Amino acid sequence: MADQRAVDDCAAAFLASSAACGPKGNVLINWHLIFAPRKVLEYVVVHELAHLKYRVHGRSFWNFLATLAPDYQTSKTWLDRHQTALSADFLASC
Ligand SMILES: [Zn+2]
Repeated sequence: MADQRAVDDCAAAFLASSAACGPKGNVLINWHLIFAPRKVLEYVVVHELAHLKYRVHGRSFWNFLATLAPDYQTSKTWLDRHQTALSADFLASC
């Protein structure tokens, strides 16, 4: 049950965020991330793949993520600051 709540939280967060890891291990990446630096996109992918092992954002999750991407904090900070500005608004003027 806790895992399902974590998945639901993650899926809900995806709607206003960058990505989600679904209940069957399917990873969804918001296509707006093509406007982010490559390193940030890589962080998002690794973050979601880490959810295959740890469903919630507990200490174990962040420690595991740090083994996969030791410098993840820089990308996380960038994403926290800029993700709402990532958009394809320029397409509306084409
Ligand atoms: Zn997450």
